[in-house]
Amino acid sequence: MHISAKELQAAAKRIKIAKDDADREIQEIEDKASRLEELHRLFSRLSRSWQDHDPGKYGIHVFFVRDYVLTPQPHGLPHAQDIEKFWVAELANDPEEIKLGRKRRYVYAGESERVAVPLGELSEVKREKCPDCANEGLVIGTYYQTYDSSEGDDWEKCLHVLCLNCLTATTIARQVMDGRF
Ligand SMILES: [Zn+2]
Repeated sequence: MHISAKELQAAAKRIKIAKDDADREIQEIEDKASRLEELHRLFSRLSRSWQDHDPGKYGIHVFFVRDYVLTPQPHGLPHAQDIEKFWVAELANDPEEIKLGRKRRYVYAGESERVAVPLGELSEVKREKCPDCANEGLVIGTYYQTYDSSEGDDWEKCLHVLCLNCLTATTIARQVMDGRF
């Protein structure tokens, strides 16, 4: 069979296009997988974070939000203040224990005491429109140490709209500081 140089050149072009398409699909699937992994992490922490002894230090601290105030920033996302955080007992990993409060260790003082965990109903969770589908989403908050070094830390506090339709958590507020806040 005779194959011309032209046909080979055309094949090389088709291969390049098909390869770029495949790379794009891989990237899309990887993006989706990391988004779902992040969401899975948020959901699992949402049921357990009420037990955190030192919130945000050893993993992301996740909670429901009843209310908050946004302060617009000249650059980037707004900051959120007066965040009223709480958990829903029936969604907690240990519904009976969460109602009793928790054993809290004050890491630096070395004290320990039982404190009440702020509880509420799912219906009290603040609702915001999902930016993608405009359905109502639930507002959740996250707080954690994003950087740890002897010179200084970075701590980040965010609010997200959890959309059960799109399966997304869209960040609507973010604030970073060089220590716990
Ligand atoms: Zn949505």
